[in-house]
Amino acid sequence: ESSMRIDKFLANANVGSRSDVKKLIKKKLVLVNELVVSDASFKVDALTDEIQVNGKSITLRTSPSYYVMNKRSGVVTATKDRLHKTVMDDLHVDLREQLFPVGRLDKDTEGLLLLTSDGDFAHRLTSPKHDVEKEYAVGLDALPIKEDLLRIEDGLKLKDGSHTKPAKITTSNHPDYTLHITITEGKYHQVKRMFGAIGHKVERLKRVRIGSLSLDDHLAAGEYRELTTEEIDQLK
Ligand code: URA
Repeated sequence: ESSMRIDKFLANANVGSRSDVKKLIKKKLVLVNELVVSDASFKVDALTDEIQVNGKSITLRTSPSYYVMNKRSGVVTATKDRLHKTVMDDLHVDLREQLFPVGRLDKDTEGLLLLTSDGDFAHRLTSPKHDVEKEYAVGLDALPIKEDLLRIEDGLKLKDGSHTKPAKITTSNHPDYTLHITITEGKYHQVKRMFGAIGHKVERLKRVRIGSLSLDDHLAAGEYRELTTEEIDQLK
């Protein structure tokens, strides 16, 4: 909600207390869109109005936002797309302007997707240098043989000649998924290509964890929530 009283806006922007602000208004030092404000209850739009005090521009320094979404299958991970619905379409309109997705899940991949307005945070989590674990539940066409799973765990060569870093494979206790894989990079279609390299097809893919943050069971596909301060600190 970006509409609020001018005295509240200026108090929130740490210009002064509400009574300080009232004095400034009395002295005709507060301008909204270049016009003097004479009433402390005057409504302003914090995002679009140009607000000045004593000739100085004032903005609300909004703190960055952090959300986790259980991405549903069928939407692309982008802020805009000409053809497809995006993850942004599943967000409340007020959030669409400020947030962007951290990394990318394929259109048919589900699961944990972070959305933030904090560029440094997004960079740290997606850069291969930082070795952040990403765990996926993988539904395969068939159970691979042990030797092939070991090749994936050791790191193998993909069709394009690039090499994958070591990965961890664990069992899944969910009937829809064959196993879990944990990787620390995020090449294009990485998990699908790793299993492709051993002759298997990924039929279902869901990200269940990024670093310290696991997907909550009660977040249905397409739903999202704000991260807690503790969750944000642990991810940083
Ligand atoms: N690996 C993939 O192949 N697809 C994803 O969406 C994520 C990881």
